[in-house]
Amino acid sequence: MSLIMKNLELFNTPSASFELKRLPDIANDTLRAWDAADELLMNTVFNDYADCLDKSDDQAILITNDNFGALTLAFNEYSIDNWSDSFVSHLAANENLELNDIKNTDSIRFMSSEDSPKSAEQSELPYKLVIIKIPKTLSLLEDQLYKLKHCINKDTKIIAAAMTKNIHNSTLALFEKIIGTTTTSKATKKARLIFSENNTDNNDKSPYPTTISDEKIQISLVNHANVFSKEKLDVGTRFLIQNMDQCPSAEHIIDIGCGNGALGIMAKRHQPNAKISFVDESYNSVASAKDSYNNAYPESASDASFHVSNALEQFAEESSAQENKNKAQLVLCNPPFHQVHSIGDHIAWEMFKQSREALETDGEIWIVGNRHLGYHIKLKKVFGNCRTIATNPKFVILAAKKLDKLNRTRK
Ligand code: SAM
Repeated sequence: MSLIMKNLELFNTPSASFELKRLPDIANDTLRAWDAADELLMNTVFNDYADCLDKSDDQAILITNDNFGALTLAFNEYSIDNWSDSFVSHLAANENLELNDIKNTDSIRFMSSEDSPKSAEQSELPYKLVIIKIPKTLSLLEDQLYKLKHCINKDTKIIAAAMTKNIHNSTLALFEKIIGTTTTSKATKKARLIFSENNTDNNDKSPYPTTISDEKIQISLVNHANVFSKEKLDVGTRFLIQNMDQCPSAEHIIDIGCGNGALGIMAKRHQPNAKISFVDESYNSVASAKDSYNNAYPESASDASFHVSNALEQFAEESSAQENKNKAQLVLCNPPFHQVHSIGDHIAWEMFKQSREALETDGEIWIVGNRHLGYHIKLKKVFGNCRTIATNPKFVILAAKKLDKLNRTRK
């Protein structure tokens, strides 16, 4: 789509201007794919840290939590490690590289939050420059700083940034505790920088993953950093679990947006013969679901599969490559209602549409959501039907069936 049609602003760096899109790509999306913190960070590195930038140097710059690839594109001529918990962020960076016709991407390495950027066993040199966009959850920052500590030295420059409203005392305290002396810049366009010197002797390990147990439903869940509701079972999740005995029987169940896997694991308890596919865009969530499932059903490891995917996009590609198309009879979903700091139901919408594709005829999607989110309207639009399974003052459980075309026109 042309710039004029979408009326896109450009992300201007000292060396180039980039057209950047967000993912999912929504028609008439007015939100930019970068913020003032990206601009401040990028300009500061180019102006004040030029000695860390050397195109002939294959010692990478570490870029952490780059949301849609703005920083990756800005520094694409250098060797970069792009480290993130979000598969969608990696996808967006790749699509934006392509959109801007950047073909030589051999020097860009994408690493998931499950990887430590460099391990002590590797003979790689410590990073000279580490750029961090402050993530939404403190747990992810904490986990990242502990992992980072092993691949920096006292000369490493560490610069972080966020919109001022997202920098709290607790954010700075983490840098002080794990990295060392920490200062902040003045605010520019409501964004601020954090500078941290690597001068503590903190050799502690990340406290993640942690495990929670829920006595009421007798489940134990492993949570890597950044996972949804990692302190206790979410109230909406619990409500759907309490009503799971009414779910139709299924040979294959998909837990979409699985987080720590609570829904899929409990579905397996009701339907012990079912195969369960756990899908999430967060690498740490998929790792959590895998650990939680394997703890719960050590004997049934082959009944479950785990997939990092944007909604069901990559999962469906993998499945259609298999001979048996892997269609499901039941999808379970507690949809996300925000993406990083922006709120919206566009991901839920994608999840519903792609779930319909993944279901066999007569298969059903069961979702739980806040009553005010109006998911029944969306489900009706996508499936042509929707029924209420249960409600309480805050939540509603809805189900929609995939009808064959004949059935749909008769309705
Ligand atoms: N099912 C879990 C539960 O009930 O505890 C987690 C529900 S949480 C409300 C929504 C989940 O959707 C999160 O784990 C989030 O990482 C995941 N998610 C967000 N955007 C996604 C996307 N584009 N594709 C796949 N999963 C996504």
